[in-house]
Amino acid sequence: MKFITNGLIIREQNIREKDKLVTVLTESRGVIKAFVHGAKDIKSSKAAATGLLSYSRFTLHTRGETYLISDAKTLKIFSGLGKSIENMYLAQYFCELSGVICPKEQESDEQLRLILNALYLLSEKGRSLFIIKPCVELRLMCLAGYMPDIMMCGECGEYEKETMYFLPKLGRFICKDCYEKNEDTEYKISLNKSTVTALRHCCYADMDKLFSFSLPEKDLKTLNFCSEEYIKFILERDFKTLKFLKSLL
Ligand SMILES: [Zn+2]
Repeated sequence: MKFITNGLIIREQNIREKDKLVTVLTESRGVIKAFVHGAKDIKSSKAAATGLLSYSRFTLHTRGETYLISDAKTLKIFSGLGKSIENMYLAQYFCELSGVICPKEQESDEQLRLILNALYLLSEKGRSLFIIKPCVELRLMCLAGYMPDIMMCGECGEYEKETMYFLPKLGRFICKDCYEKNEDTEYKISLNKSTVTALRHCCYADMDKLFSFSLPEKDLKTLNFCSEEYIKFILERDFKTLKFLKSLL
C-alpha cells in the first residue's frame, strides 16, 4: 500500500553500505520506522531529505509491518541550528523525547507542528533555548495525556500565593501553608508568582502564543528544572541527549 505524508526525521541508523533505517515523526501516522534504499548515494535525491532533522514529504510503501520510503522531497532543513552546539543538542533531545512520547501509528499533527515551530524559532529567530525547551517538554507531556494539574493548590484550592511548590512526582501544586501543615514531606520545587504563571502558560496557552513569554533568567532556569524533573518522574527515564546538553550549559 502506498501513501504520502509529511514528517521530520528524528533518528537515522546506517544499515548495509548504502541503506539506512530512519525514524520519522509523521503527520498522519505518528512515529514510524522506515527503510531507505540507496540513501547514501550522493546522487540520490533522498539523501538530504532523509537526513536527521530534515522535514520532508515522503512517499511510503508498506510491506507487512515494515515501511519503505520510495521518494522524499525536502520541505525544510533547519540549517541555522548548526550555528550553536547547544541548539543542535536541544534539537536532538526533542528528537529523542518525541521518539519516546509521541504516538505510534496514530495522527501526530500537533506534536509535529510543535517541534517544527520550536526548531524554526531556534534555527532562524535566535529564540532562547531556555524558553523553547520547557514549552516543548511540557506541551509534549500534555499531548501524551500527562497534563500536570497546576491550576491551583491541590489541598486548599488557592490560585495564587506568594510561594507555590511544584511537586514533580505528582505533577501538581501545593501552597507553602498547606505544605507546612502536611506531615509527609514530598519532594518540591519552590516557585514565585511569575514562574507559576509561566508554567501554566507552557501547559495551557494556545499553540500560536506558546513560545511568546519572557521570564527573568533565574526563573527560567527554575522553569526548565520543573519540566525536566516532571518528565524524569513521570516517564521514569533519563535522556542521553539531555545529559549532553546539560553538560554544555
Ligand atoms: Zn494550599
